[in-house]
Order: sequence, then structure tokens, then C-alpha cells
Amino acid sequence: MELSNKKVVVVGLRLSGMAAAKLLREKGASVWVTDSTSDAELERSASALRTEGVQVELGAHTEEFISGSDLVVASPGVPREALPIRWADEKSIPVISELELAFNFCKAKSVIAITGTNGKTTVTTLIGEIIKEAGRECWVCGNIGEPFSSKVKDIGEGDIVVLEVSSFQLERIKDFKPKIGIALNVTQDHLDRYSSMEEYSKAKLKLFQNQDGSDYAILNFDDSIAKGFAQKVRSKPLWYSIKRGVDEGACIKGTHIVTILDKKIMAISERLNLRLLGEHNLENALASALAAALLGIEAETIAKVLGEFAGLAHRFEMVESVGGIEFIDDSKATNVDSTMRALQACNKKVVLIAGGRDKASDFRAARKIIKEKVSSLVLIGEARERIAKALDGHVPQVDFADSMADAVKKAFSLAKRNYTVLLSPMCASFDMFKDYAERGKVFKEEVGKLKTSAPLDAPAAYVGEDK
Ligand code: ADP
Repeated sequence: MELSNKKVVVVGLRLSGMAAAKLLREKGASVWVTDSTSDAELERSASALRTEGVQVELGAHTEEFISGSDLVVASPGVPREALPIRWADEKSIPVISELELAFNFCKAKSVIAITGTNGKTTVTTLIGEIIKEAGRECWVCGNIGEPFSSKVKDIGEGDIVVLEVSSFQLERIKDFKPKIGIALNVTQDHLDRYSSMEEYSKAKLKLFQNQDGSDYAILNFDDSIAKGFAQKVRSKPLWYSIKRGVDEGACIKGTHIVTILDKKIMAISERLNLRLLGEHNLENALASALAAALLGIEAETIAKVLGEFAGLAHRFEMVESVGGIEFIDDSKATNVDSTMRALQACNKKVVLIAGGRDKASDFRAARKIIKEKVSSLVLIGEARERIAKALDGHVPQVDFADSMADAVKKAFSLAKRNYTVLLSPMCASFDMFKDYAERGKVFKEEVGKLKTSAPLDAPAAYVGEDK
């Protein structure tokens, strides 16, 4: 991609937009950045870029900004119908994603790209940890919070890149071609952005669109949509499944996690040695072990990391026990399926704190598991009425709370000894918090406060064991 003296407009100036703008400057392009919002953080980024000769507009987009440009780079958070994208399309100016831009300058032959509705960050991190444990040069970036564009100039030909990829970043790719593509699952999410599940799945499938017979597609056999991708890819499909055996891929044999490649079985570890909890994490472990085995990494190394990796913050993270009640922070569960998987992993009765910004999800999908596991539901945020309605009659008690402090107090008073209080919202956080991490942090702080005040304030917790 030759960019010197080309006019390139970057849309969106958060993490990825900033990284894209810097990369474009390094490549000699005349860089323009437009963002429809404005705040102190953006102002700081804008000033930094302006000193490098970048033109920046904040607070609104103007059509003149796009006019005459040779290329538009869209940040992942930018809506598809955003004005600059529409103008570029009308003027037949090519629009690519930040992922596509970075890939064009990536020298590494070995790019592993992970997509799916849930589990991307966990699997991306796990694979990165295994590769590092094996002593190989590895870059973990993408949607995980380290934009690919910010790393690409340092990535060498023999290095391995482990990339977390969201469907938003795949919408505008052209040549992006990972050596190993992984589809973890495709369940309901982002239906505020996509008009249907079909459209959302199509965006995920794009991960594989440029692969050929020398590449690999690692697919979850237990997920019907990811499984169906096998018919549509040109690369070699490899399966993983926690429910049945596979010919080529990864599965459970007896009590062991195994990989099977070229008919050779490699026993990785006892499944019980896995430190992560829940069947969803067993799936994540299989996907990661399989990618590592494909890279030629030994079983011992993979087993060591699987046995040690304790998981990431806000993903089914055990916070602490107060008065015999355990509190789990699963703030990153921003869709219905992730909450269902969290509930499946709970072996005690649950008081569930859920709610937040609605993404047009169908909460009825959670009815069965909620009926089975949840004794009380404490609902917060914009979606609370819709969730209450969808789950009406499927949970004995539903309560509303106006803040996280209120929710934690209510949940604590509804729980009994040996219960779990689970924050697993099924929704985005932006109606009440900066992001899911802040939501989880506030939850933990409120749990911490209970610890000091619990004996006086929470009689229900001490009423006795549940029968
Ligand atoms: P992502 O990056 O795709 O959002 P994370 O690893 O951050 O995925 O996990 C997001 C949420 O999904 C957490 O609540 C986590 O417990 C849950 N989760 C993790 N792996 C899976 C999986 N394989 N299937 C379903 N839910 C999962």
C-alpha cells in the first residue's frame, strides 16, 4: 500500500483512530482525522496530532474534510451509517478498517485472528501466554486494547501475531488474511448495529474470506453458526468440541484435553487441571490448545499455561465471600449468551444483578437457565423493564435498583448463606458507566463496603442455609 502524499481521512479518534493516524503519518500520508464527539481526552489527542501536521476536526463531521481524499480509515466504534462513511461511499472513495490498514504493513507470516461473540479476549490472551511460554516472539493486539496499528512497525517477519478481531473491524477489510482464523461462537449480540443474526454472522465469516488451502479455520463444533462456517471457507477446517470426539482438532478423551493433527493424538492435560471455571472456558482452552499445537508447541508448555492462567478481570471473576455469600464479577457479560454460560458455571443458588444499555437482545433465551439457577433478580439500567417483562414468571423475585450500590445491597439482603451474588448484566454498561471495567470496579468496591458493614446491615444473609 503506497500512501506517501495521499490524503487519508481517519474517522474516529479513540485508541484505534489515534494509532491509525500515527501509522499513516509514518507512511508519509497527508492525514486528516474527524470525530463527531469532543471531550478533554480527544482534545489532548488532537493537539498531539496537530503538532505532527495532522488536520483534526472534533465535534462534527464536515463533507469538505472527506472531499478529495484517496482513502478513508474507519475506527471500529464508528457506526456504519456515519456521515463520513456515507460521503466516502457516495464519492467512491475506498473505506477500510484500522485492522486492514495495519495488516497491509504487517511483515509477520503467522497471524492468528480470533473472532466470536464471546471469549475473544480470553482466548487471545491464553494463546499469547502459551506462545510466550514456548519462548517465541509474539504480539498480542487488536480489539484487546492494543491497536494492531500501534504495534505493526515493530513486528518482524518470523514473529507471531495474535489478534483479537471484532465484527466491526471485519466489515471493511479487503486483503486481511490470517494464517489461522478462529471462530469461537456466534450468538445474539449487537442487534442494534446489525439488522439480523444473518448479517452479524456474515461479518464474522469475513475473517476467513481471503484464506486459501494453506491456511486454517479453527471452528467450534458445538456452536451451530461457527460449525456452519466450514461449508463456506476455503482453508482447512479444524474442529474443537467439548461434547464429542473430532477427527482433526481438539476434544476431550476420557479425562484429558487432546489435540489431533495429521491423525497424531497429543494429550495436553487433565481437564480438571484447568484453572479457569465453567464449560465455556473449557471450550476456550480447547481452541487455544489447538492453535498452539498447530504452531508446533509442545503439550507440556500448553498444559503449564492452562494450569496457571487464572482468567481476566470482570470475566466470571471471584471477588470475595461476605457472610458465606460469594460475589462474582462478570461485568464483561454484555450479551445474553455470556450470562447464560456464567449461570451454567454456578453450582449454588444465584442472586443475579443484570441490566444496562439494551442492544435489542432477546432476553427470553435465558428463561430456562434463570428458572433453574436464579432465586432473585436485581435489575439496573435502561433495560430493566424489558428484562423484567421477558423473564416474568421465570424467577421468584424481581427487584429494581437505581445504582450499583443499591443493587449490591439489595442482592446481599436477598441472598442466603451459600448463595452466589453474580453481576452478569446481559447488557452494555454505557447508560450508567464509562465501560464494563468501571461497572465491575464499582461492583467490587460496593462488595468491599459490605464486608465492613455486613454483620449489622444484612440480617438475611445470616438467616441460615438454603434448603
Ligand atoms: P470477548 O472479548 O469476546 O468479549 P471475553 O473473553 O472478554 O470475550 O469474555 C466476555 C464474556 O463472555 C465474559 O462474561 C466471559 O465470562 C464470557 N465468555 C468467555 N468465554 C466464553 C465462551 N467461549 N462462550 C460464552 N461466553 C464466554
